[in-house]
Formats: sequence, structure tokens, C-alpha cells
Amino acid sequence: MATLVLVGRGRGLSGILTGVSDLIEIRDAARAFIAERDWEQFQDPKSVMLALVGEVGELAELLQWLPADAARDLAQEEPLHTRLSEEMADVLVYLVGLADQCGVDLGAAALAKIEASGRKHPVEGSRGVSPSRLDAGPALG
Ligand SMILES: [Mg+2]
Repeated sequence: MATLVLVGRGRGLSGILTGVSDLIEIRDAARAFIAERDWEQFQDPKSVMLALVGEVGELAELLQWLPADAARDLAQEEPLHTRLSEEMADVLVYLVGLADQCGVDLGAAALAKIEASGRKHPVEGSRGVSPSRLDAGPALG
């Protein structure tokens, strides 16, 4: 099992994701939720993708007018912290659902993408340079 751990820059954020197996747990919980409601009939890649986009919009709305230099600290304060976690959860659940609909191993795809981005943007030449200033575009985009 691969483990992806995001470590904050000195802000005590670690262990945000404990393992790719968590995605399977989320997928299975979402499948059960959907099945209990007989909502499989409404699940298709287009519909789930549009739901995902809607949730991304809800997440963006929470952050859009925060001053960039204060957003990290403000995101730790309630009630914003709880609202962010709720909308991030919505985004993740729909993203996992979209991967499920499309037969994509999301954890493996994400790890492969990070590895590919590492080859595309070697540390030398990228270190300390804003992704927007790199010729090849966003570091993980
Ligand atoms: Mg939402």
C-alpha cells in the first residue's frame, strides 16, 4: 500500500492522508450510501463530474475573497475551518465517485502524476520558482 502524506510548512499539518486505502473506504461508503437510496440510476460520469464542479465552486466561494496573505491562518478559524472541511469532503467524495464511474485507480493515478511532475520539473531549475513562472505550466497541473 502506498502512502501519501502531506506535510505542512511548519504549521503542524501532517498525516492529512494516511493511505491510498482510504480512497477505497470512501468509495465503498459512497457506493453503500447510493445503493441504499437506489440512486445508482443517477450515477454516470457526466452527472458525477457536474456535481464535482458544483462542489468545487462551493469550496472556492469560501476562499475567494480572503486576503491571500491571511487565508492560511483564517482557514484555521471556526466556523470557516469546519465549512472548508465539509466542502473538501464533498469534492473528494465526488472525485472518488467519478474515478469509480470511470474505472480509474485514483490513488495510483495521483501518485503516478506526482512522480511524472517530478520528472517534468526536476528540483534543480524548479526550486523556489513559482509554478506559474515555469515554462511547462503548473507543477501538478
Ligand atoms: Mg457542498
